[in-house]
Amino acid sequence: MKSPEVLIIGGGIIGLACAYNLSKLYPQKSITILEKEEVLAAHQSGRNSGVLHAGIYYRPGSLKAINCRRGKAAMEEFCAQEGINYKICGKVVVAVAAEQLAALQSIYERGRANGVKCEFIGPARLRELEPHAAGIKAIHVPETGMVDFSQVCSRLADLIKAQGHQILTGVRVTGLTEKSGEALVETTRGEFLPRYIINCAGLYSDRVAAMSAKPLPWRIIPFRGEYYQLKPEAEKFCRTLIYPVPDPRFPFLGVHFTRKITGEVKCGPNAVLAWAREGYSKSDVNLRDLFASLTYPGFAKIAARYWRTGIGEMWRSFSKEAFVRALQRLVPEVSARHLRPYPSGIRAQAVTLNGRILDDFAFLETSRVVHVINAPSPGATASLSIGREVVARLAQRFS
Ligand SMILES: Cc1cc2nc3c(=O)[nH]c(=O)nc-3n(C[C@H](O)[C@H](O)[C@H](O)COP(=O)(O)OP(=O)(O)OC[C@H]3O[C@@H](n4cnc5c(N)ncnc54)[C@H](O)[C@@H]3O)c2cc1C
Repeated sequence: MKSPEVLIIGGGIIGLACAYNLSKLYPQKSITILEKEEVLAAHQSGRNSGVLHAGIYYRPGSLKAINCRRGKAAMEEFCAQEGINYKICGKVVVAVAAEQLAALQSIYERGRANGVKCEFIGPARLRELEPHAAGIKAIHVPETGMVDFSQVCSRLADLIKAQGHQILTGVRVTGLTEKSGEALVETTRGEFLPRYIINCAGLYSDRVAAMSAKPLPWRIIPFRGEYYQLKPEAEKFCRTLIYPVPDPRFPFLGVHFTRKITGEVKCGPNAVLAWAREGYSKSDVNLRDLFASLTYPGFAKIAARYWRTGIGEMWRSFSKEAFVRALQRLVPEVSARHLRPYPSGIRAQAVTLNGRILDDFAFLETSRVVHVINAPSPGATASLSIGREVVARLAQRFS
Protein backbone atom coordinates (compact mmCIF):
# COMPACT_ATOMS: atom_id res chain seq x y z
CA MET A 1 0.00 0.00 0.00
CA LYS A 2 1.49 3.35 -1.07
CA SER A 3 0.70 6.43 1.01
CA PRO A 4 1.75 9.74 -0.54
CA GLU A 5 0.41 12.74 1.29
CA VAL A 6 -1.21 14.14 -1.87
CA LEU A 7 -2.29 12.05 -4.82
CA ILE A 8 -3.04 13.80 -8.11
CA ILE A 9 -5.17 12.03 -10.69
CA GLY A 10 -4.28 13.05 -14.26
CA GLY A 11 -0.99 13.92 -15.91
CA GLY A 12 -2.24 16.78 -18.09
CA ILE A 13 -1.13 20.37 -17.70
CA ILE A 14 -3.52 21.06 -14.81
CA GLY A 15 -2.42 18.04 -12.76
CA LEU A 16 1.21 18.92 -13.39
CA ALA A 17 0.66 22.59 -12.54
CA CYS A 18 -1.03 21.57 -9.28
CA ALA A 19 1.92 19.34 -8.37
CA TYR A 20 4.43 22.05 -9.34
CA ASN A 21 2.72 24.68 -7.15
CA LEU A 22 2.25 22.25 -4.30
CA SER A 23 5.90 21.22 -4.35
CA LYS A 24 6.96 24.88 -4.25
CA LEU A 25 4.56 25.98 -1.52
CA TYR A 26 4.64 22.84 0.64
CA PRO A 27 8.01 21.18 -0.10
CA GLN A 28 7.60 18.73 2.78
CA LYS A 29 4.45 17.09 1.32
CA SER A 30 5.01 13.96 -0.76
CA ILE A 31 3.16 13.94 -4.08
CA THR A 32 2.29 11.17 -6.51
CA ILE A 33 0.71 11.80 -9.91
CA LEU A 34 -1.18 8.92 -11.53
CA GLU A 35 -1.72 9.02 -15.29
CA LYS A 36 -3.58 6.27 -17.13
CA GLU A 37 -1.68 6.73 -20.42
CA GLU A 38 1.93 5.66 -20.92
CA VAL A 39 2.85 9.29 -21.66
CA LEU A 40 1.90 12.63 -20.10
CA ALA A 41 -0.27 15.24 -21.86
CA ALA A 42 -1.76 12.68 -24.25
CA HIS A 43 -5.18 14.33 -24.34
CA GLN A 44 -6.30 17.97 -24.14
CA SER A 45 -2.90 19.26 -23.00
CA GLY A 46 -1.13 17.80 -26.02
CA ARG A 47 -3.90 18.38 -28.57
CA ASN A 48 -4.75 22.06 -28.44
CA SER A 49 -4.14 25.23 -30.45
CA GLY A 50 -1.09 26.32 -28.46
CA VAL A 51 -2.37 29.85 -27.96
CA LEU A 52 -1.42 31.92 -24.91
CA HIS A 53 -4.74 33.67 -24.55
CA ALA A 54 -4.67 37.30 -23.43
CA GLY A 55 -8.11 37.12 -21.77
CA ILE A 56 -10.39 39.26 -23.93
CA TYR A 57 -13.37 36.92 -24.17
CA TYR A 58 -14.18 36.12 -20.55
CA ARG A 59 -16.76 37.72 -18.26
CA PRO A 60 -14.92 40.21 -16.02
CA GLY A 61 -14.51 38.79 -12.52
CA SER A 62 -15.00 35.19 -13.70
CA LEU A 63 -12.48 32.49 -12.81
CA LYS A 64 -11.57 32.29 -16.51
CA ALA A 65 -10.85 36.03 -16.69
CA ILE A 66 -8.82 36.13 -13.47
CA ASN A 67 -6.86 32.91 -14.00
CA CYS A 68 -6.20 33.57 -17.68
CA ARG A 69 -4.56 36.92 -16.90
CA ARG A 70 -2.58 35.58 -13.93
CA GLY A 71 -1.80 32.28 -15.64
CA LYS A 72 -0.52 33.91 -18.82
CA ALA A 73 1.88 36.10 -16.86
CA ALA A 74 3.03 33.07 -14.85
CA MET A 75 3.39 30.95 -18.01
CA GLU A 76 5.52 33.58 -19.74
CA GLU A 77 7.75 33.83 -16.68
CA PHE A 78 8.00 30.04 -16.46
CA CYS A 79 8.89 29.68 -20.14
CA ALA A 80 11.49 32.45 -19.93
CA GLN A 81 13.02 30.89 -16.82
CA GLU A 82 13.05 27.35 -18.25
CA GLY A 83 14.19 28.25 -21.76
CA ILE A 84 10.92 27.14 -23.43
CA ASN A 85 10.30 28.82 -26.76
CA TYR A 86 7.23 31.11 -26.76
CA LYS A 87 6.29 34.17 -28.72
CA ILE A 88 4.02 37.13 -28.06
CA CYS A 89 2.83 37.64 -31.62
CA GLY A 90 -0.58 39.33 -31.25
CA LYS A 91 -3.85 38.37 -32.87
CA VAL A 92 -6.79 39.88 -34.69
CA VAL A 93 -10.50 39.18 -34.11
CA VAL A 94 -12.20 40.07 -37.36
CA ALA A 95 -15.79 41.14 -38.09
CA VAL A 96 -16.74 40.37 -41.66
CA ALA A 97 -20.34 41.63 -41.58
CA ALA A 98 -22.19 44.54 -39.98
CA GLU A 99 -24.30 42.23 -37.82
CA GLN A 100 -21.11 41.12 -36.01
CA LEU A 101 -20.15 44.61 -34.88
CA ALA A 102 -22.19 44.60 -31.67
CA ALA A 103 -20.57 41.30 -30.59
CA LEU A 104 -17.12 42.70 -31.53
CA GLN A 105 -17.84 45.76 -29.38
CA SER A 106 -18.77 43.61 -26.38
CA ILE A 107 -15.58 41.52 -26.73
CA TYR A 108 -13.59 44.76 -26.82
CA GLU A 109 -15.33 46.00 -23.66
CA ARG A 110 -14.71 42.70 -21.88
CA GLY A 111 -11.07 42.81 -22.90
CA ARG A 112 -10.61 46.33 -21.55
CA ALA A 113 -12.44 45.43 -18.33
CA ASN A 114 -10.08 42.47 -17.93
CA GLY A 115 -7.05 44.74 -18.33
CA VAL A 116 -6.10 43.44 -21.80
CA LYS A 117 -4.42 45.89 -24.15
CA CYS A 118 -6.50 45.88 -27.33
CA GLU A 119 -7.62 48.34 -29.98
CA PHE A 120 -10.15 48.63 -32.76
CA ILE A 121 -8.61 48.71 -36.21
CA GLY A 122 -10.04 49.30 -39.68
CA PRO A 123 -9.44 47.39 -42.94
CA ALA A 124 -6.24 49.31 -43.79
CA ARG A 125 -4.48 48.46 -40.50
CA LEU A 126 -5.85 44.90 -40.70
CA ARG A 127 -4.19 44.54 -44.12
CA GLU A 128 -0.88 45.75 -42.65
CA LEU A 129 -1.05 43.13 -39.89
CA GLU A 130 -2.62 40.30 -41.90
CA PRO A 131 -2.43 41.12 -45.63
CA HIS A 132 -4.73 38.24 -46.62
CA ALA A 133 -7.50 38.73 -44.03
CA ALA A 134 -10.79 40.32 -45.06
CA GLY A 135 -12.91 42.29 -42.63
CA ILE A 136 -14.79 45.51 -42.06
CA LYS A 137 -13.47 46.07 -38.53
CA ALA A 138 -11.26 44.12 -36.15
CA ILE A 139 -9.75 44.08 -32.70
CA HIS A 140 -5.98 43.83 -32.50
CA VAL A 141 -4.72 42.13 -29.34
CA PRO A 142 -0.95 42.54 -29.28
CA GLU A 143 -0.53 40.52 -26.04
CA THR A 144 -1.68 37.15 -27.40
CA GLY A 145 1.04 34.57 -27.86
CA MET A 146 1.90 31.01 -28.83
CA VAL A 147 3.71 28.16 -27.12
CA ASP A 148 3.88 24.37 -27.26
CA PHE A 149 2.03 23.26 -24.11
CA SER A 150 3.43 19.70 -24.45
CA GLN A 151 6.88 21.14 -23.89
CA VAL A 152 5.61 23.00 -20.84
CA CYS A 153 4.19 19.71 -19.49
CA SER A 154 7.40 17.84 -20.01
CA ARG A 155 9.45 20.54 -18.23
CA LEU A 156 6.95 20.66 -15.34
CA ALA A 157 7.26 16.88 -15.00
CA ASP A 158 11.07 17.10 -14.87
CA LEU A 159 10.94 19.74 -12.14
CA ILE A 160 8.40 17.76 -10.09
CA LYS A 161 10.50 14.59 -10.31
CA ALA A 162 13.64 16.56 -9.44
CA GLN A 163 11.94 17.49 -6.15
CA GLY A 164 11.69 13.77 -5.35
CA HIS A 165 8.00 13.30 -6.22
CA GLN A 166 6.58 10.40 -8.21
CA ILE A 167 4.87 10.42 -11.58
CA LEU A 168 3.45 7.02 -12.47
CA THR A 169 2.18 6.49 -16.00
CA GLY A 170 0.05 3.59 -17.22
CA VAL A 171 -1.95 3.62 -13.96
CA ARG A 172 -5.71 4.16 -14.14
CA VAL A 173 -7.73 5.14 -11.10
CA THR A 174 -10.76 2.86 -10.80
CA GLY A 175 -12.16 3.67 -7.35
CA LEU A 176 -12.03 6.35 -4.68
CA THR A 177 -13.40 6.19 -1.14
CA GLU A 178 -12.98 8.99 1.37
CA LYS A 179 -12.43 7.94 4.96
CA SER A 180 -11.88 9.91 8.16
CA GLY A 181 -8.06 10.05 8.14
CA GLU A 182 -7.27 9.31 4.52
CA ALA A 183 -8.75 8.19 1.20
CA LEU A 184 -8.58 4.80 -0.48
CA VAL A 185 -7.72 5.00 -4.16
CA GLU A 186 -8.02 1.82 -6.22
CA THR A 187 -6.02 1.62 -9.42
CA THR A 188 -4.96 -0.84 -12.08
CA ARG A 189 -1.65 -1.08 -10.15
CA GLY A 190 -2.89 -1.61 -6.62
CA GLU A 191 -4.26 0.59 -3.88
CA PHE A 192 -3.05 3.97 -2.58
CA LEU A 193 -3.87 5.56 0.77
CA PRO A 194 -3.24 9.32 0.36
CA ARG A 195 -4.37 11.91 2.87
CA TYR A 196 -5.54 14.29 0.14
CA ILE A 197 -6.44 14.03 -3.54
CA ILE A 198 -6.65 16.41 -6.48
CA ASN A 199 -8.76 15.20 -9.38
CA CYS A 200 -7.49 16.59 -12.70
CA ALA A 201 -8.82 13.82 -14.93
CA GLY A 202 -9.96 16.16 -17.73
CA LEU A 203 -12.40 14.30 -19.96
CA TYR A 204 -13.06 11.86 -17.10
CA SER A 205 -13.14 14.37 -14.24
CA ASP A 206 -16.88 13.80 -13.72
CA ARG A 207 -16.50 10.01 -13.62
CA VAL A 208 -13.67 10.25 -11.10
CA ALA A 209 -15.68 12.78 -9.05
CA ALA A 210 -18.72 10.49 -9.13
CA MET A 211 -16.64 7.82 -7.36
CA SER A 212 -16.85 9.93 -4.18
CA ALA A 213 -19.38 12.73 -4.70
CA LYS A 214 -23.01 12.18 -5.63
CA PRO A 215 -25.18 13.54 -7.13
CA LEU A 216 -22.96 15.50 -9.48
CA PRO A 217 -24.30 18.83 -10.69
CA TRP A 218 -22.48 18.52 -14.06
CA ARG A 219 -21.55 16.02 -16.70
CA ILE A 220 -18.63 16.23 -19.12
CA ILE A 221 -19.79 16.35 -22.71
CA PRO A 222 -16.89 15.80 -25.13
CA PHE A 223 -16.71 18.23 -28.06
CA ARG A 224 -14.20 17.29 -30.74
CA GLY A 225 -12.26 20.12 -32.36
CA GLU A 226 -11.08 19.20 -35.84
CA TYR A 227 -8.25 20.95 -37.62
CA TYR A 228 -6.65 21.21 -41.01
CA GLN A 229 -3.16 22.46 -41.67
CA LEU A 230 -2.18 24.88 -44.44
CA LYS A 231 0.19 23.36 -46.97
CA PRO A 232 3.57 25.18 -47.05
CA GLU A 233 2.70 27.19 -50.18
CA ALA A 234 -0.39 28.61 -48.39
CA GLU A 235 1.25 29.46 -45.05
CA LYS A 236 1.69 33.03 -46.30
CA PHE A 237 -2.08 33.55 -45.80
CA CYS A 238 -1.64 33.90 -42.03
CA ARG A 239 1.15 35.74 -40.24
CA THR A 240 0.03 35.18 -36.64
CA LEU A 241 -3.51 34.42 -35.42
CA ILE A 242 -6.74 35.32 -37.23
CA TYR A 243 -10.01 34.74 -35.35
CA PRO A 244 -13.66 35.32 -36.26
CA VAL A 245 -16.17 37.00 -33.96
CA PRO A 246 -17.39 34.05 -31.86
CA ASP A 247 -21.03 33.18 -31.27
CA PRO A 248 -21.57 34.60 -27.76
CA ARG A 249 -23.91 31.70 -26.85
CA PHE A 250 -21.03 29.19 -26.85
CA PRO A 251 -17.62 29.01 -25.17
CA PHE A 252 -15.98 28.01 -28.48
CA LEU A 253 -14.13 30.60 -30.56
CA GLY A 254 -15.08 29.56 -34.11
CA VAL A 255 -12.68 28.13 -36.71
CA HIS A 256 -9.61 30.32 -36.95
CA PHE A 257 -6.05 30.43 -38.26
CA THR A 258 -3.25 29.76 -35.77
CA ARG A 259 0.43 29.96 -36.57
CA LYS A 260 2.16 27.46 -34.31
CA ILE A 261 5.38 28.23 -32.49
CA THR A 262 7.05 25.83 -34.95
CA GLY A 263 5.81 27.91 -37.90
CA GLU A 264 3.05 25.74 -39.42
CA VAL A 265 -0.47 27.17 -39.66
CA LYS A 266 -3.45 25.23 -38.24
CA CYS A 267 -7.03 25.97 -39.26
CA GLY A 268 -9.84 25.15 -36.84
CA PRO A 269 -11.02 23.85 -34.48
CA ASN A 270 -14.73 23.34 -35.05
CA ALA A 271 -16.84 21.87 -32.20
CA VAL A 272 -18.77 18.63 -32.79
CA LEU A 273 -20.17 16.15 -30.30
CA ALA A 274 -17.59 13.36 -29.98
CA TRP A 275 -19.07 9.85 -29.87
CA ALA A 276 -16.24 8.76 -27.57
CA ARG A 277 -14.52 10.87 -24.91
CA GLU A 278 -11.18 10.10 -26.45
CA GLY A 279 -12.48 9.48 -29.97
CA TYR A 280 -10.21 11.55 -32.15
CA SER A 281 -11.58 10.38 -35.49
CA LYS A 282 -15.13 10.72 -36.79
CA SER A 283 -15.65 6.96 -36.78
CA ASP A 284 -14.64 6.42 -33.12
CA VAL A 285 -17.62 5.31 -31.05
CA ASN A 286 -17.72 4.32 -27.39
CA LEU A 287 -21.22 3.15 -26.55
CA ARG A 288 -20.92 4.01 -22.85
CA ASP A 289 -19.73 7.55 -23.62
CA LEU A 290 -22.31 8.11 -26.36
CA PHE A 291 -25.14 6.78 -24.19
CA ALA A 292 -23.97 9.00 -21.29
CA SER A 293 -24.07 12.11 -23.49
CA LEU A 294 -27.33 11.39 -25.30
CA THR A 295 -29.32 10.36 -22.21
CA TYR A 296 -28.14 13.28 -20.08
CA PRO A 297 -31.09 15.67 -19.64
CA GLY A 298 -28.73 18.68 -19.79
CA PHE A 299 -27.48 17.61 -23.22
CA ALA A 300 -31.02 16.99 -24.49
CA LYS A 301 -31.93 20.55 -23.52
CA ILE A 302 -28.90 21.97 -25.34
CA ALA A 303 -29.64 19.85 -28.40
CA ALA A 304 -33.26 21.07 -28.46
CA ARG A 305 -32.17 24.70 -28.19
CA TYR A 306 -29.18 24.70 -30.52
CA TRP A 307 -29.91 21.88 -32.98
CA ARG A 308 -29.46 24.19 -35.96
CA THR A 309 -25.92 25.20 -34.84
CA GLY A 310 -25.13 21.55 -34.01
CA ILE A 311 -26.14 20.36 -37.47
CA GLY A 312 -24.06 23.16 -39.04
CA GLU A 313 -21.01 22.02 -37.07
CA MET A 314 -21.60 18.35 -38.02
CA TRP A 315 -21.92 19.39 -41.65
CA ARG A 316 -18.62 21.30 -41.44
CA SER A 317 -17.08 18.20 -39.93
CA PHE A 318 -18.12 15.93 -42.78
CA SER A 319 -17.78 18.44 -45.63
CA LYS A 320 -14.34 19.91 -46.26
CA GLU A 321 -16.00 22.44 -48.60
CA ALA A 322 -18.18 23.70 -45.74
CA PHE A 323 -15.13 23.97 -43.47
CA VAL A 324 -13.30 25.89 -46.19
CA ARG A 325 -16.24 28.29 -46.61
CA ALA A 326 -15.98 29.18 -42.89
CA LEU A 327 -12.25 29.83 -43.34
CA GLN A 328 -12.82 31.86 -46.51
CA ARG A 329 -14.93 34.36 -44.58
CA LEU A 330 -11.68 35.34 -42.86
CA VAL A 331 -9.18 34.68 -45.65
CA PRO A 332 -10.92 34.57 -49.05
CA GLU A 333 -7.88 33.20 -50.93
CA VAL A 334 -7.85 29.92 -49.01
CA SER A 335 -9.24 26.95 -50.90
CA ALA A 336 -9.63 23.21 -50.29
CA ARG A 337 -6.42 22.42 -52.19
CA HIS A 338 -4.42 24.40 -49.62
CA LEU A 339 -5.50 22.18 -46.71
CA ARG A 340 -4.36 18.85 -45.39
CA PRO A 341 -5.78 16.99 -42.35
CA TYR A 342 -4.31 17.62 -38.92
CA PRO A 343 -4.94 15.66 -35.68
CA SER A 344 -7.99 16.72 -33.69
CA GLY A 345 -8.43 17.44 -29.98
CA ILE A 346 -11.39 16.89 -27.65
CA ARG A 347 -12.62 19.49 -25.18
CA ALA A 348 -13.94 18.38 -21.80
CA GLN A 349 -16.92 20.70 -21.42
CA ALA A 350 -19.13 20.52 -18.34
CA VAL A 351 -22.86 20.84 -18.93
CA THR A 352 -25.37 21.31 -16.11
CA LEU A 353 -28.46 19.20 -15.59
CA ASN A 354 -30.67 22.07 -16.71
CA GLY A 355 -28.84 22.45 -20.01
CA ARG A 356 -26.35 25.21 -19.34
CA ILE A 357 -22.91 25.00 -20.94
CA LEU A 358 -20.74 25.91 -17.98
CA ASP A 359 -18.76 28.91 -19.20
CA ASP A 360 -16.28 29.15 -16.35
CA PHE A 361 -13.69 27.05 -14.59
CA ALA A 362 -15.36 24.98 -11.87
CA PHE A 363 -14.23 23.01 -8.84
CA LEU A 364 -16.01 20.67 -6.49
CA GLU A 365 -14.69 20.07 -3.00
CA THR A 366 -15.35 17.07 -0.78
CA SER A 367 -13.73 16.26 2.55
CA ARG A 368 -10.38 15.06 1.17
CA VAL A 369 -10.57 15.94 -2.51
CA VAL A 370 -10.49 19.02 -4.72
CA HIS A 371 -12.03 18.06 -8.05
CA VAL A 372 -11.19 20.22 -11.08
CA ILE A 373 -14.44 19.67 -12.91
CA ASN A 374 -14.36 22.20 -15.74
CA ALA A 375 -11.07 23.47 -17.15
CA PRO A 376 -11.51 23.91 -20.90
CA SER A 377 -9.86 26.72 -22.90
CA PRO A 378 -8.09 28.88 -21.76
CA GLY A 379 -7.15 26.14 -19.29
CA ALA A 380 -3.66 25.60 -20.64
CA THR A 381 -2.83 29.32 -20.56
CA ALA A 382 -4.32 29.56 -17.06
CA SER A 383 -2.87 26.29 -15.76
CA LEU A 384 -0.21 27.69 -13.42
CA SER A 385 -2.78 30.00 -11.83
CA ILE A 386 -5.39 27.23 -11.61
CA GLY A 387 -2.72 25.11 -9.91
CA ARG A 388 -2.24 27.86 -7.32
CA GLU A 389 -6.01 28.16 -6.79
CA VAL A 390 -6.41 24.40 -6.30
CA VAL A 391 -3.50 24.20 -3.88
CA ALA A 392 -4.98 27.08 -1.85
CA ARG A 393 -8.28 25.18 -1.64
CA LEU A 394 -6.56 21.93 -0.69
CA ALA A 395 -4.37 23.64 1.91
CA GLN A 396 -7.45 24.59 3.92
CA ARG A 397 -7.58 20.89 4.83
CA PHE A 398 -3.94 20.65 5.99
CA SER A 399 -3.85 20.40 9.75
C1 LIG B 1 -9.01 21.45 -29.49
C2 LIG B 1 -8.56 22.21 -28.27
C3 LIG B 1 -7.92 23.46 -28.42
C4 LIG B 1 -7.52 24.16 -27.28
N1 LIG B 1 -6.78 25.31 -27.45
C5 LIG B 1 -6.29 25.93 -26.34
C6 LIG B 1 -5.43 27.05 -26.49
O1 LIG B 1 -5.05 27.43 -27.58
N2 LIG B 1 -5.02 27.69 -25.37
C7 LIG B 1 -5.40 27.28 -24.11
O2 LIG B 1 -5.02 27.92 -23.13
N3 LIG B 1 -6.18 26.20 -23.95
C8 LIG B 1 -6.61 25.50 -25.03
N4 LIG B 1 -7.37 24.38 -24.89
C9 LIG B 1 -7.73 23.93 -23.53
C10 LIG B 1 -6.60 23.20 -22.85
O3 LIG B 1 -5.98 22.28 -23.70
C11 LIG B 1 -7.17 22.52 -21.61
O4 LIG B 1 -7.79 23.51 -20.82
C12 LIG B 1 -6.12 21.83 -20.75
O5 LIG B 1 -5.25 21.06 -21.54
C13 LIG B 1 -6.80 20.96 -19.71
O6 LIG B 1 -5.80 20.22 -19.05
P1 LIG B 1 -6.17 19.01 -18.10
O7 LIG B 1 -4.93 18.62 -17.41
O8 LIG B 1 -7.36 19.41 -17.27
O9 LIG B 1 -6.75 17.88 -19.05
P2 LIG B 1 -6.00 16.75 -19.90
O10 LIG B 1 -4.85 17.29 -20.62
O11 LIG B 1 -7.06 16.10 -20.71
O12 LIG B 1 -5.44 15.76 -18.80
C14 LIG B 1 -6.24 14.88 -18.03
C15 LIG B 1 -5.46 13.62 -17.85
O13 LIG B 1 -6.14 12.77 -16.94
C16 LIG B 1 -5.91 11.43 -17.34
N5 LIG B 1 -6.93 10.58 -16.73
C17 LIG B 1 -8.26 10.58 -16.98
N6 LIG B 1 -8.89 9.65 -16.24
C18 LIG B 1 -7.94 9.05 -15.49
C19 LIG B 1 -7.98 8.00 -14.52
N7 LIG B 1 -9.12 7.40 -14.19
N8 LIG B 1 -6.80 7.60 -13.96
C20 LIG B 1 -5.62 8.21 -14.28
N9 LIG B 1 -5.53 9.20 -15.20
C21 LIG B 1 -6.68 9.63 -15.79
C22 LIG B 1 -5.99 11.51 -18.86
O14 LIG B 1 -5.39 10.41 -19.49
C23 LIG B 1 -5.31 12.84 -19.13
O15 LIG B 1 -3.94 12.69 -19.44
C24 LIG B 1 -7.77 23.64 -25.99
C25 LIG B 1 -8.38 22.37 -25.86
C26 LIG B 1 -8.74 21.66 -26.97
C27 LIG B 1 -9.32 20.29 -26.81
